Amino acid sequence: MTRVAPGWVGGGVAPRLRHIRPARAACRLTMAINGIDYQVHPSRSEPAAVLKAYRLSKADGTAYDVAQTAYGLTCDCPDFIFHRDGVDPDGCKHIKALVTYGLLEPTE
Ligand SMILES: [Zn+2]
Repeated sequence: MTRVAPGWVGGGVAPRLRHIRPARAACRLTMAINGIDYQVHPSRSEPAAVLKAYRLSKADGTAYDVAQTAYGLTCDCPDFIFHRDGVDPDGCKHIKALVTYGLLEPTE
């Protein structure tokens, strides 16, 4: 007499019961913008008006928060704040880079 897995009704060799560990995905995204490397980190705990958000950080410790909000794309870099907010719908280089690679949606 052969023992089979519970629920086994087919002929031939019974399937072995196996434990499958969850897939592990240790990953890192680096984006080069105008020749400077930025680490891209998704931001998860954001206000409700924020649809998607990323932190771009450089090796020197400088970091910028870029977000897609209900009111449009935004970045906290000086170029966006002082020159592009409300003026240039394409945004700063950080916004353009994230839109180019599909991490943020372009504004219409
Ligand atoms: Zn920016």
